[in-house]
Amino acid sequence: MAACFSAIDDPRQQGKCEYSQHDILMSAFACMYFQDPSLLHFQIRLEQNQQRNNLKNIFNVQNIPSNNQLRDVLDEIPSEALAPIFKNFHEKLRKHKHLEDYAILPNVLMCTIDGTQYHSSTSVSCSCCLTKEHKAGEITYSHSVLQGAIMHPDKKQVIPVMPEAIKNEDGTKKQDCELNASKRSIANLRAAHPRQKFMICGDGLMSNQPMIEETMAGDMHYLFVAKPGNHKYLVEWLSAYNELPTTEFTDAKGNSHIYTWQNDVPLNGNEKTINVNWFQYQFKNKQGKITKTHSWVTDIEINKSNVIEMTKAGRCRWKIENECFNTLKNQGYHIEHNYGHGNKNLSYNMYLLTLLAFYFHQIFELTDGVYQACRVSFGSKSHLWENFRATIRMLVVDDWAHLMDLLLNPDNYEVTATKNS
Ligand SMILES: [Zn+2]
Repeated sequence: MAACFSAIDDPRQQGKCEYSQHDILMSAFACMYFQDPSLLHFQIRLEQNQQRNNLKNIFNVQNIPSNNQLRDVLDEIPSEALAPIFKNFHEKLRKHKHLEDYAILPNVLMCTIDGTQYHSSTSVSCSCCLTKEHKAGEITYSHSVLQGAIMHPDKKQVIPVMPEAIKNEDGTKKQDCELNASKRSIANLRAAHPRQKFMICGDGLMSNQPMIEETMAGDMHYLFVAKPGNHKYLVEWLSAYNELPTTEFTDAKGNSHIYTWQNDVPLNGNEKTINVNWFQYQFKNKQGKITKTHSWVTDIEINKSNVIEMTKAGRCRWKIENECFNTLKNQGYHIEHNYGHGNKNLSYNMYLLTLLAFYFHQIFELTDGVYQACRVSFGSKSHLWENFRATIRMLVVDDWAHLMDLLLNPDNYEVTATKNS
């Protein structure tokens, strides 16, 4: 992490800089890492000796910048400069074989993409803000990203990839959109991982011909939700068959799971339509009523032996919402918190640093036995982090490993306290 931060070009005139770019990025990252909702309070507490030393010992920050200095410098750092960090983490996970369990098909990773908004305001804005004018003339300013994450139905942790900002080009009024950002994100993912096979998973917005062609052009598989209402031609085409291949099983509770598919069907009625493979999952309760229907299109040929696995893959798309966005928004990471908006990149850089902290913690959960033991010992993640925060407020630790050991084996440490009798 430190090496990645240090590698980022610093356009400032070196002689005039009080704080290194590394110290600035690392100080902000530390705030996200410890999930402190207030950068200002985090900074104020840093004035206390314990915190100051802990920032040095855990994050190797030599000089702590003030709140304003931090925001000013972060605003100038181009967000793309943080992209190699995502790539490096991914490569390390791959090298140590942690990604093998994520293969959705042999050697294929499933990357789910979806849009999410992290800033919305009628007053705070910058030149990159998306704008929406309301009838009364009021304008809402917002920032969104197209976020991708590698996931697997059997794995709780999701592995984020570098997101794509949904933003307006500096000074233009032309509104960027999720679909355009999706296309850019596929090109970027391919460029970042040229040899990795991916299957892109997305919602109903993605199951159109231009998006599918973009995915195929990137030499990737796709698995997109296909709602009947958006695919009338395809639905009509399917209804012309006397019978579609299907398989069904009843679970121990008496509910039925019905899988139906048809390969090589036209996506739409256009002259140059592409052919897709369609499949559907239905849940029928004990009373014989169908209460859930989901359908998808894909380039993977569907058959009796893979339809259940493909359904599981399609249905685990919700993890981007639950395990990623919801965690970033409501489970300690405060991604929608306004740490300061800036004029250029501050808002997005804060999003990226928060995402990197989340990524770090996902890696701990996947690979770090000591962290896993801490999680077990403290039950909930939020309780564990509360204790991490409380400990660094009171004690100076040697490093991160020392902090974890303190929490895990408090009896090994002697705490001397003076008691008033
Ligand atoms: Zn903005």
